Amino acid sequence: DDGDPVVTTDRLTKRYGSRTVVDALSLQVRRGEVFGFLGPNGAGKTTTLRMLLGLVRPTSGSATVLGRPAGASVAQVGALVEGPGLYPYLSGRDNLRVLARYAGVGADRVAAVLDTVALTDRAGDRFGTYSLGMKQRLGIAAALLKDPALVVLDEPTNGLDPAGITEVRTLLRRLVAEGRTVVLSSHLLGEVEQICDRVAVVASGRLLVESSVEELRGLGRLVVDARPLD
Ligand code: ATP
Repeated sequence: DDGDPVVTTDRLTKRYGSRTVVDALSLQVRRGEVFGFLGPNGAGKTTTLRMLLGLVRPTSGSATVLGRPAGASVAQVGALVEGPGLYPYLSGRDNLRVLARYAGVGADRVAAVLDTVALTDRAGDRFGTYSLGMKQRLGIAAALLKDPALVVLDEPTNGLDPAGITEVRTLLRRLVAEGRTVVLSSHLLGEVEQICDRVAVVASGRLLVESSVEELRGLGRLVVDARPLD
């Protein structure tokens, strides 16, 4: 039902050998929000996203996605987790046509997602000529082909300039307005502040804070205020 969280993790844990990469993570992502995992490289963000997608098996604990165990709702989840395997010599549109055929969705979805990511005008240009921001947006378009309820994006703003981040923000707001939920990762506080509604701050696999972005700003101020004067 509509009040149910889109993602629930319950002591979700991943160990590689003796190393705990994700450590008893318990949190909830609500319907219609942009939720960000914020943490430094190696914090376990990618591993967490991969567990939500059913690509990595938890060592213990569980993740429920859209009311089912992670990995069971693949048809309703769109993801951009690795550098999208897009071809530089194909146009943006032809790249999506290839992926649409692969995903078994109609060609009408290609036009729709190009429109959503504001790339219709450049859809005939070769992917290799796109700016980094355009490349990211085409990757997000690929994640939208299946018309997913949940969109999972690993570092969608990585390397983007402020204008590119603003474009991603606008795009994510559009996805939320369409009734989707977005889960993403980032290692930059300034980026999640701009694009997320709520965040989970993670370090060494542990959840430090789960809060709204406004609360996080307040916490940041507390930390700054607590610094000794010199
Ligand atoms: P990054 O932004 O660098 O991807 P991250 O927060 O997404 O960081 P993860 O990629 O989840 O972090 O990795 C967390 C830790 O787990 C890293 O130290 C990584 O080396 C380790 N790790 C990830 N996958 C494996 C694996 N298959 N086998 C062993 N260690 C792994």
